[in-house]
Amino acid sequence: MINKPTKPVDPERGIIVGVTGGIASGKSTVSRLLAEKGAFTINLDEIGHELLKRGSPVMDELLEAFGPDILDASGDVSRKKLGAIVFADNAAREQLNAIMHPPIVQRSQSEAHRLVADDADCVVVIDIPLLIEGGRHHLVDVIVVVTTSPENQLQRLLERSIEESRPLSVEEAQARISAQIPLSEKEKFAHFVIDNNGAFEELSRQVDQLWIEFRRLKTL
Ligand code: ATP
Repeated sequence: MINKPTKPVDPERGIIVGVTGGIASGKSTVSRLLAEKGAFTINLDEIGHELLKRGSPVMDELLEAFGPDILDASGDVSRKKLGAIVFADNAAREQLNAIMHPPIVQRSQSEAHRLVADDADCVVVIDIPLLIEGGRHHLVDVIVVVTTSPENQLQRLLERSIEESRPLSVEEAQARISAQIPLSEKEKFAHFVIDNNGAFEELSRQVDQLWIEFRRLKTL
């Protein structure tokens, strides 16, 4: 694990940690391991899923941008249909991000700030894929980038898509990876870089070390 100095943390409140990295690099796995250590976790995917449900405030904007074909039979926005549109079209993806990101970030921030204000010793982890692309890295105290080789990333993305019964072709998976800025770019912003090229046990050992570093930050 690579470790760089962070800005000083406020002793009066908990620490907000942004876990980022590429698609299928292991962000959710790292967040889950940190939750097992005692961190509160905020999952942006979950907030995003909530925002795709019928009656949510962003629904009208999505319909206006992409048309009624994005709806599934129950009237919610279909992530599959939306995914097919935006991963094939950069402009559409940027439009989707422009609609979804502000409310997602706003909700995650208010939740994180409520938690850290309530408990000065807590660690709040936000799994935030576009932390750096979105220029939002200043919103967190500590940035953790989870990296993995392009080969592992592709293989894990393909395997997961099969496990989730939504198999991607190699071309589709590659398009999702290529749509993001390279992991090496994200690493430049990191306070901690987790190398997730090894086995789960190796990842878990790095998270143990990371947790010790978070505790140390609170005692500086
Ligand atoms: P996304 O951005 O798409 O949500 P993610 O960065 O959160 O992905 P994970 O869901 O944590 O990534 O991991 C992607 C897949 O790779 C999962 O199926 C996970 O179980 C698997 N995986 C993660 N780390 C490892 C590892 N060290 N060895 C083998 N498989 C792994």
